[in-house]
Amino acid sequence: MKLVSHWIDGASAVTGGRTSDVFNPATGAVSGQADLADEATVDRAVEAAKRAFPAWRDTSLVKRTQILFRFRELLDQNRDALAERITAEHGKVHADALGEVARGLEVVEFACGIPHLLKGGFSENVSTSVDSFSLRQPLGVVGGITPFNFPAMVPMWMFPVAIACGNTFVLKPSERDPSASLLIAELWQRAGLPDGVFNVVQGDKVAVDRLLTHPDVKAVSFVGSTPIARYVYETGTAHGKRVQALGGAKNHMLVLPDADLDLVADSAVSAGFGSAGERCMAISVVLAVDPIGDDLVSKIAERTRKIKVGAGDDPASEMGALVTKVHRDKVASYLDLGEGKIVVDGRENLPEGGGFWLGPTVIDHVPAGSRTHREEIFGPVLSIVRVSSYEEGVELINSGEYGNGTAIFTNDGGAARRFQNEVEVGMIGVNVPIPVPMAFYSFGGWKASLFGDTHVHGTEGVHFYTRGKVVTSRWLDPSHGGVNLGFPTNR
Ligand code: NAD
Repeated sequence: MKLVSHWIDGASAVTGGRTSDVFNPATGAVSGQADLADEATVDRAVEAAKRAFPAWRDTSLVKRTQILFRFRELLDQNRDALAERITAEHGKVHADALGEVARGLEVVEFACGIPHLLKGGFSENVSTSVDSFSLRQPLGVVGGITPFNFPAMVPMWMFPVAIACGNTFVLKPSERDPSASLLIAELWQRAGLPDGVFNVVQGDKVAVDRLLTHPDVKAVSFVGSTPIARYVYETGTAHGKRVQALGGAKNHMLVLPDADLDLVADSAVSAGFGSAGERCMAISVVLAVDPIGDDLVSKIAERTRKIKVGAGDDPASEMGALVTKVHRDKVASYLDLGEGKIVVDGRENLPEGGGFWLGPTVIDHVPAGSRTHREEIFGPVLSIVRVSSYEEGVELINSGEYGNGTAIFTNDGGAARRFQNEVEVGMIGVNVPIPVPMAFYSFGGWKASLFGDTHVHGTEGVHFYTRGKVVTSRWLDPSHGGVNLGFPTNR
């Protein structure tokens, strides 16, 4: 049985204690075990990162960038291999896994521009013969803790920028799909990254808690569910660390009566059921403004019934299995609540065998404020909530717990502008169902979807992984001699 190890100081490492099962979601079989780090293993990874930091910080920007470019090329050449690892443990279809690799690669490309991104400001003669300039310097050892649903892309939101800025990194991937992280580590090594700059510890709460409390870890980036994001933020900041913790989501699509309903139905089905709804930017609620509800639901249902559910490595499949049986059963439990009318039932017509199957499900007339409407289900369940007006729709979005993504579908530019102004959500789509920002913008939600002040990647990512310094300098000449105890002024 495959044992998924850690990667510390440029080599694989095993704790040899607790393990957790890794599954093939399409068959339900156990395909391997993740070695779960104990505190001593995390300490070894942090020590390796700490040892590597001074030399990496002092490596010239040109040299760092050359390594990033080589890493980018190797990732590009290994897209398929990485996607295969993702599909085998996560269950998403190969095309979708390739998509996640592509979006992660874009962050590496963004990080290749680090010499420009780290430029400071310079002011000559701020006082007589005195110059001032600003610097941004790396923090030291930083940690990344990531969720199961994007085992390559979410870590790549973090480490390319962190490493480009001169930090050293310890990644703690999800124990449910841990293998992609090791291929990434090998590619870094082949790209010429010095040992200890990028490390991986497989693990669970034990490893997370050690990273959050270790005195040598200066900052932690987290992506996962809201309760854990809140815990990570509170624990990490209480231990003096800089923390950005991205949480869960419940994303609404508001459909105004003037929208093109075929475009809306295509978009809602793609955004609701891509990756089996296991995306933090998935659309899980469609708010249909009267009187379009019946027409829209029939178009959505017609498309949903045609989706081909099957093994992620079968090119004919459009939607794969869910990640684990526990998660599949939790998602399916929402269908038993009796909230609304099930129009397409994902419990029917499933592939045979022991895979963690649940087909795409559409529930109409979901009551506003019900559990199905409000809670993050994180699976292939699309709820339709009927509303009487734009205002009622915005009120439902803004009164929710989360603020990750949302979309409006309309041909009315004025309504779209009003929406982007009024809605309390971090990422907005206008006739775009999954408005994931490009790597050179920053990704992050509002309210319970993000704890901390900075979003990930883009310039906010560069700011998160660096801190500012301002130098005020004067090169003395003899005419400036003499003691003066007064506070320096410009007089
Ligand atoms: P999760 O919160 O269960 O796990 C995330 C990470 O935290 C994993 O590495 C896990 O090992 C660790 N963890 C789990 N329980 C812990 C505990 N008690 N103490 C300390 N660490 C713990 O999330 P998940 O199920 O892997 O991922 C799905 C969730 O992630 C969804 O809620 C989804 O919305 C969210 N997500 C959010 C974004 C975003 O950008 N906001 C992106 C992707 C996923």
